[in-house]
Amino acid sequence: MTKALKAENFETYTKSSQIDGSTTVSQNEIDAALRYDPVTLAHKSLEFESATPQEVLRFVFETYPNAAISTAFGLEGCALIDMAVRIKPDVPVFTIDTDYLFPETLALKDLLIARYKLNLKIVRPRLTMAEQEAKHGAKLYESNADLCCAIRKVEPNRRAITGLEAWIAGLRRDQTASRAKTDILERFDHDDGRPYVKVNPLANWTRERVWDYVVDKAVPYNELLDRGYKSIGCWPCTRPVAQGEDERAGRWVGRGKTECGIHTFAQKRRYGDVS
Ligand code: SF4
Repeated sequence: MTKALKAENFETYTKSSQIDGSTTVSQNEIDAALRYDPVTLAHKSLEFESATPQEVLRFVFETYPNAAISTAFGLEGCALIDMAVRIKPDVPVFTIDTDYLFPETLALKDLLIARYKLNLKIVRPRLTMAEQEAKHGAKLYESNADLCCAIRKVEPNRRAITGLEAWIAGLRRDQTASRAKTDILERFDHDDGRPYVKVNPLANWTRERVWDYVVDKAVPYNELLDRGYKSIGCWPCTRPVAQGEDERAGRWVGRGKTECGIHTFAQKRRYGDVS
């Protein structure tokens, strides 16, 4: 059914009750198909380039009731949480506790829970630290950082997004070259084949714009950001960056690695794809 849709925009088609003038389908069927149609989403995403993140979030909460925000409590995540709870106070938020988080990050987590009465789910790796060391040796983050990230970040994240209609994240295009093509709305498939939408409300924001929001709204942020860190992950794989260095230059230094895999494990469905 989705193949027959020639989407111009979301609203136009949700008002229609016929496709190609021949096959009558129910409004619910049309709405369900359009919510995940790559072409429709691409149009809507382009439309959102001139919208505010709050407008994007409102649309997502109305269109995909089963939506959640993921965060590692970076600057963007804190801003997104602030924006989202003003619209939907009980918005589900999840974070992955890799067991390697900085004490400052854990303190920020507690601060955010208290400040926003955050509906936060903490997701942990299947292997404890002791089990991982017994199986793969100590300091896996040095011997095989990709495997360490797969165990402690990617698998828990895949578990956390299972069943979601929309996964909201704080990616920005200007963070790294690999994030330069991030769309505001992106279509992906779960492992079981069901579709979901990845939502990046801050995709076209700069770091300065996020800082302006955080300062203006007095949003709590990680105090490591005042000590030379710009992107904060696990302590064994994160260091401060020098003036003028790329904001993610302090992650996995010297290991030729720029992403943990959470945002790159799946293939995005694009314009020409058929549902
Ligand atoms: Fe392991 Fe480092 Fe990846 Fe954290 S960022 S999961 S410590 S390799």
